[in-house]
Amino acid sequence: MLHHVRLRPPSHDYPADEWNVIEKAFHPEFLAQLETILALGNGYLGMRGCPEEGGPNAENATLINGFYETWPIVYAEQAYGFAKTGQTICNVTDSKIIKLFVDDEPFWLPDANLLSYDRRLNMKSGTLDRDILWETPAGKQVSIKSQRLVSFENRHVAAISYCVTLLNSKASIVLSSEMATDTDKPSGCINGDDPRLAKAFSGRVLHPRANYCKGRRIVLCHATEKSRLTVTCATDQGLETSCPHTEKVAHTDDFGQVVFTIDALLGHPIQFTKYIVYHTSKTASAEELCGRAEWTLDRVIAQGFQQLLTSQEQYLHDFWRRSDVRIRDVREDRTNRSTVEIQQAIRFNLFHMLQASARAEDAGVPAKGLTGQAYEGHYFWDTEIYLLPFLTYTSPRIARNLLTFRYKMLPQARARARQLGHRGAMFPWRTISGEEASAYYAAGTAQYHINADIMYALRKYVQATGDALFLHDYGAEMLVETARLWLDRGFYSEAKGGKFCINGVTGPDEYKAVVNNNAYTNLMARENLRYAAQTVKSLQSTEPVTYNALVQKTVLESSEPERWLRAAENMYVPYDEDRQIVLQDDSFLDREPWDFQNTPSEHYPLLLFYHPLNIYRKQVIKQADVVLAMFLLGDLFSPEAKNRNFRFYDPLTTGDSSLSSCVEAIIAAQVGDMEKAFRYGMAALLMDLADVGGNVNDGCHIASMGGTWMMLTYGFGGMRDNDGTLSFWPRRPPEESATLRFPVTYRGQRLEIEIGLEKVEYALREGECLAIRHETEEIQLTSKHPLAVRTVTRR
Ligand code: BGC
Repeated sequence: MLHHVRLRPPSHDYPADEWNVIEKAFHPEFLAQLETILALGNGYLGMRGCPEEGGPNAENATLINGFYETWPIVYAEQAYGFAKTGQTICNVTDSKIIKLFVDDEPFWLPDANLLSYDRRLNMKSGTLDRDILWETPAGKQVSIKSQRLVSFENRHVAAISYCVTLLNSKASIVLSSEMATDTDKPSGCINGDDPRLAKAFSGRVLHPRANYCKGRRIVLCHATEKSRLTVTCATDQGLETSCPHTEKVAHTDDFGQVVFTIDALLGHPIQFTKYIVYHTSKTASAEELCGRAEWTLDRVIAQGFQQLLTSQEQYLHDFWRRSDVRIRDVREDRTNRSTVEIQQAIRFNLFHMLQASARAEDAGVPAKGLTGQAYEGHYFWDTEIYLLPFLTYTSPRIARNLLTFRYKMLPQARARARQLGHRGAMFPWRTISGEEASAYYAAGTAQYHINADIMYALRKYVQATGDALFLHDYGAEMLVETARLWLDRGFYSEAKGGKFCINGVTGPDEYKAVVNNNAYTNLMARENLRYAAQTVKSLQSTEPVTYNALVQKTVLESSEPERWLRAAENMYVPYDEDRQIVLQDDSFLDREPWDFQNTPSEHYPLLLFYHPLNIYRKQVIKQADVVLAMFLLGDLFSPEAKNRNFRFYDPLTTGDSSLSSCVEAIIAAQVGDMEKAFRYGMAALLMDLADVGGNVNDGCHIASMGGTWMMLTYGFGGMRDNDGTLSFWPRRPPEESATLRFPVTYRGQRLEIEIGLEKVEYALREGECLAIRHETEEIQLTSKHPLAVRTVTRR
């Protein structure tokens, strides 16, 4: 129902622009929001969108994916097997500070007389651009133009160009380029009652290991105490100006500063460039890491800022070619505001997904990407169920990296399964290191479904890419271990007519904890078991060498696949005959109804206002659960069944999790409820830009962003891939006049689909030969005949 949408906090209003998200004036009340929205990142390094001048900041953060500190989780009442070690992403040295003084007057945004102000996230160039005209109290007009980037091509590199020009006078200018490491104040957010925020460390998190300067180059190296990770931050500075100047360099353990004092002449630009490098390691010594940072600096300085800009633009050009989803309103002219706004929001979502994942090598994707510390920088199922479909169909190499990262977690997952008394492997609900970091098992570890979710993403990836090698070398082993987990976790229950039941789990709906036979879990586990059996059997008959290696690695018994299949075929799925709906879990209907009518709108999300026990015992749902199963396993549900289930579950679903509205929108579209499809769809699309969830301050909602891509392609584009073939069932509402165009990469070929008012066009843009289906008709596209046009069915 998206109950919370009624209560939207004020949010910044961005002018409509297809390629830019623009801040037209400085609004201190939206500081935190803009830090998130205008954050830059590349999946390895992330910087919130704070101003160059070192403030004002709400939650300034520079984050490195997978760079975390641990802490002991203290339970008032311990129990066996509880996660023991918390993991929290650290705020590393802030390197982007460039302070400006004109005739000793500091340029400080809240106090400055700004004659003009424009700051924009440019999604074509991959830069954060700012153009300001400042008048000092003495009437001197100063043009300040800056451009910041976090490089996609060079994952360790960020850079800032900062150009100051005096427009009506000469003046004395000081530019202080600084680096600062948090020491005395807590690093991380203050937690309060909101479980979504990160832990606050009380003392120093980063301990100095090395620091030095060489000319204008400053290198600071720190390490965490418990997780034993080392980070080096190094900066170098370039100054080009015809104005006379002097410079001074200083540094301490935690701070570095290069100060230029300049006799600025009227109209002579002062071009300052700051090159920034971060290197991190679990094993390298401080000396070695400093060396690495210097090599990287040498390289990028030799190339220059312009080359960084060019490579950034090329990277993005390639990204948009593979990933851009375009809408156009054919009945209105191109300047139609709402279409441009929707296009802007679509691109904003796609762009941030790239920023969250592009160079996440040997790491996962945190729930907030690298735009904030909320959820502690942890990786959840968000990656596999919400983000990986987009990556699989647009950047399969990144999808492969992320699945490989899961594979590398297998040793810890095996150990965790053993600890909980299970066979096989059990992936953590939330983690950075691979160990379970969820301190609340009921809404954490109990979400066994993450194992099936990862295997679901694996299946999609293998189908869409044909990457059999990955399946053989990595996927099969994960399949064997997760299938074993399910077989061990469930049992044949006499009470349920001998069916295979899985008790004591939490499904996606975190407002129901530790239930029996969560339908989503059982259905996804069934897929997991079947895929495992099918993969092992096929390897056995076609790839004996790989099969033997798998048997060796996993001590696989020949009878296991049959046992997995038996469990799958007998999987129990709770069903209510009267209502003819799948039940979310065995006892869902026994629960007392939630009193929605008397729940004040300011009491959403419920998790911040009601004790879990109050929520758990009622019929109230946090996020799509059965509805999600209907999307992911669409072929299992007839249109009528989808309709019945949706009508039942939708009114009970609060949408308190941002993972909900995108999925609800897809099913609403599938059951023909276009009003809801658009309403929920807009909520998902604008989750961050319009702060629909009310917490964009803490970071972007990466899963919801992935959900918007699914909504556009699977939902409105009618894409289906459940049976291993790519097919499209585009359906248009009669009165709607927008066209939709999107590319997908399938088996190394690029297909572009354009759904017009009357026709749908399939174009093979790259590749030799591709078989797809339009509804039930097979279509062969070849490089000679790359185009097929069919009629769109109206609803
Ligand atoms: C949702 C989870 C999700 C997590 C991180 C929670 O609020 O209920 O499903 O994995 O947020 O995004």
